[in-house]
Amino acid sequence: MTATRVSLVVLGSSTRVLSTLCGECPFHVAGCCHAPPAYDLADVARVVQAAGGLDFLLHAIASGTIVAEDGVHPRTLKLATHKRRIVQGTVPKGRALACSQLSDAGCTLDPSYRPATCNYYVCAEGLRDEHAPEDPARPYAVLREWWTRINGAFDAAFPSLPENWSTDRGLLLALAAFLDDYERRAGLARTDAQNSV
Ligand code: SF4
Ligand code: SF4
Repeated sequence: MTATRVSLVVLGSSTRVLSTLCGECPFHVAGCCHAPPAYDLADVARVVQAAGGLDFLLHAIASGTIVAEDGVHPRTLKLATHKRRIVQGTVPKGRALACSQLSDAGCTLDPSYRPATCNYYVCAEGLRDEHAPEDPARPYAVLREWWTRINGAFDAAFPSLPENWSTDRGLLLALAAFLDDYERRAGLARTDAQNSV
């Protein structure tokens, strides 16, 4: 097996941490995509911020690609999972439950439409890069801390949500405006180009 390499793709709020180990995940045939992470409120806001994101989200909800998490008053959304045949490289790996957005070539979603966790999460094994000049665990930890803080801010600002909030355009735009304001106050410049690469 070749040595694991980790790279950072800086794309504003869709910044990604990538590990070559994920292409041949030793833990699950579908890698982390067998259990897609939730869209927290900050993720929903991020998607709505992105070019075409509001229409994408509403269409995904209408088609059942994105559904509400279980619970009485769900505050998060999740990607549907399907039983699918997984191929890694040219080698069939069998069938597994996996995110509906996973293809044989990887994720089909633009990074700006994924939950942030999809973009930055890499397990400890995947972060082990002996040739990296800096410990790859650092950018990972910074990104995780950043999104944890923002989600905390959303919980404080939106302690309760109306029924059917996830299809309420006005509420969705208010979430995106809150994130815009949070990023501006944090000194982060933001352009659509950052999310459209
Ligand atoms: S982050 Fe770890 S568990 Fe997830 S796909 Fe990559 S190697 Fe597998
Ligand atoms: S959105 Fe993409 S990266 Fe995230 S779980 Fe689904 S296939 Fe994997």
